[in-house]
Amino acid sequence: MTKNVPLIVIGAGPAGLGAAAEAAGAGVETLLLDEQPGPGGQIYRAIARSDAARRALLGPDYARGAALLPALESGAVDYRPGANIWQITPEREVYFTRDGKAQVLQAARIVLATGAMERPMPFPGWTLPGVMTAGAAQIMLKSAGTVPQGEVVLAGSGPLLLLLASQVLDAGGRVAALVDTTPRGSLMAALPHLPGMLRAPSTLKKGLALLARLRRAGVPHYKGAGDLRARGTEKIEALRFTAGGREYDLPCALLLLHLGVVPNLQITRALGLAHDWDPLPRCWRPRLDSWGNTEHEGIAVAGDGGGIVGAEASEHQGRLAGLQAACQLGKLNPADRDAKAAGIRRALAAQRAARPFLDRLYRPAEAFLDPPDNTLVCRCEEVTAGQIRDFVRLGCLGPNQTKAFGRAGMGPCQGRFCGLTVSEVIARARGAGMEEVGHYRIRPPIKPVTLAELAAMDPDDTGPEGGFDRDDAA
Ligand SMILES: Cc1cc2nc3c(=O)[nH]c(=O)nc-3n(C[C@H](O)[C@H](O)[C@H](O)COP(=O)(O)OP(=O)(O)OC[C@H]3O[C@@H](n4cnc5c(N)ncnc54)[C@H](O)[C@@H]3O)c2cc1C
Repeated sequence: MTKNVPLIVIGAGPAGLGAAAEAAGAGVETLLLDEQPGPGGQIYRAIARSDAARRALLGPDYARGAALLPALESGAVDYRPGANIWQITPEREVYFTRDGKAQVLQAARIVLATGAMERPMPFPGWTLPGVMTAGAAQIMLKSAGTVPQGEVVLAGSGPLLLLLASQVLDAGGRVAALVDTTPRGSLMAALPHLPGMLRAPSTLKKGLALLARLRRAGVPHYKGAGDLRARGTEKIEALRFTAGGREYDLPCALLLLHLGVVPNLQITRALGLAHDWDPLPRCWRPRLDSWGNTEHEGIAVAGDGGGIVGAEASEHQGRLAGLQAACQLGKLNPADRDAKAAGIRRALAAQRAARPFLDRLYRPAEAFLDPPDNTLVCRCEEVTAGQIRDFVRLGCLGPNQTKAFGRAGMGPCQGRFCGLTVSEVIARARGAGMEEVGHYRIRPPIKPVTLAELAAMDPDDTGPEGGFDRDDAA
């Protein structure tokens, strides 16, 4: 018989850790599942294993993640790393693989805290060897202390790009250039949102400090860059672009790209939940109430997976979802829940007030939303933007039909990376809005699962108990 668990939290980033800590603190039996080998999610990746030197290198925003570990260390939360969730049903059955076996558990409540992923940044040549995302480079830095060899060029837009450039320098790496694709005029357009930004002054200060750090290090900063093309035959040899009315051809062996982050919606989409298009940050988000509840009874979303809010706000949202789960499970009365939530809501409101400024300032340049014809959009199935436009001319109305027209979105990533771009290209080619064009229909399994893992599945087997050991946590 499938084992029942009162609360399953999925994702051990700030939102999931916050949710699990609050719920377990209120006495809820809480299971925390995450695919990674250690807790922390994206921002605090490998925090449990990192020594003082690495924490100092990655900065105070990284080091503060250690404060989220006590609920795991005390055993209050049953934490199971290495658990890949590949299906959740509206009836709250959670299917995952761990230790080479598929498993299923039945939850009374679920908090989805699956975070964000980097927005694709398609332009001609972006799939050449030697081009990777800034997030991937940062993952290597956080989990293994790996610093890019030789000179690296960073291109794109957004705070994470500046942060990574500064972290690479601090780790002894060399940054040859920052090719900033934030469109000219974005700052002016964002200024009406400045009062909100000033409610979270530390965010603004951090951004200015990063820019100052890069200036001090003498990193060439090309602003308002456009018309990017990665040049090379076997691998990238140079990045071409225009900036300030001039054309550049920068020799480059490693190019790191970043264009902001967008919610990871694979599970909420596969559950068939309602999603809204958010025109300012140009991404979808699931429809939630102020506790993070979705329209499916007992399933809530917290953190960047519900709309990009940043790490601190993600933790606050996680705590709210944890309190709400505790209340729904009878461990906390509504008055106590609301009293505990009041301070969290105030801190959350200040963080959220900063978002419109950041979203407008770092809205991606149009060229990456609607790339040139010769740009690969679906990397798995090698479908170009031009082919998507051809499909529209032949009558294709939305992303789901592109699968029949030319297999876009049908590769191993199941549309995770190309979904937004395919919809944006179709919307422009049709002259339609994103709400009308829609998004890929996502079907389970949302993560690869092998036949051997399925064959090993035993609904009575709940797997080895979880546990937290700093030495194992990568
Ligand atoms: C690559 C990358 C690097 C970033 N680096 C920084 C940074 O240095 N500083 C900063 O301020 N912000 C950073 N961000 C933004 C930051 O991720 C968020 O603001 C914050 O971490 C959001 O917290 P969260 O708990 O919502 O999600 P996350 O921290 O993203 O945690 C989500 C967790 O869910 C897990 N998960 C997702 N899907 C599944 C599944 N199907 N099965 C099992 N587990 C799953 C993930 O592996 C992850 O551990 C980064 C974002 C990305 C994408």
